[in-house]
Amino acid sequence: MSTLKVARMGHPILREKAKELTLSEIKSERVQRLIDDMIETMHEYDGVGLAAPQVHESLRISVIEFDLDNERYKDSGVQSLIVCINPKVKVLDKKTHGYWEGCLSVPGIRGYVKRPQKIEVHFLNRMGQKQTITAEGFLATVFQHEFDHLDGELFVDKVASPEQLAFTEEYLRYHHNPEAEEELD
Ligand code: ZN
Repeated sequence: MSTLKVARMGHPILREKAKELTLSEIKSERVQRLIDDMIETMHEYDGVGLAAPQVHESLRISVIEFDLDNERYKDSGVQSLIVCINPKVKVLDKKTHGYWEGCLSVPGIRGYVKRPQKIEVHFLNRMGQKQTITAEGFLATVFQHEFDHLDGELFVDKVASPEQLAFTEEYLRYHHNPEAEEELD
């Protein structure tokens, strides 16, 4: 396994619509190695998630990992490391909630983004098997952030106004509430 270089905002690959994978592509050695490398890269940079375009591969793959110790997910039955291939999202509840999002491709910047908080996600796992997960709250935001990358979108596109953007230092100083819910990074 190896750590991959992460594309930063301004790199055209982050704005491309990524390609769906066929079952035989999913099972190929190249894609399996890419998934392993994406997981290692996510760990290396301490990210919650990573999408293939962020490592210069225009393919519809996202890896997501979150802390199962967190009360929020304890009884969700959801695994802590999820590999999503060709994901599709169905919004179950349009009610939105905002989080200060961050992104490995937009280092040093946070943005307040409101997204639906109850979604159903259909995807293939790394074995090519069909999976369905219902995600709520913060996890719903994480999925939507990672899947936006597959359509060439970044969280900075989704802030209500540029006033909802901040450098990490200013975010921590003026907008961060340690008592409040977790942030995305
Ligand atoms: Zn991101």
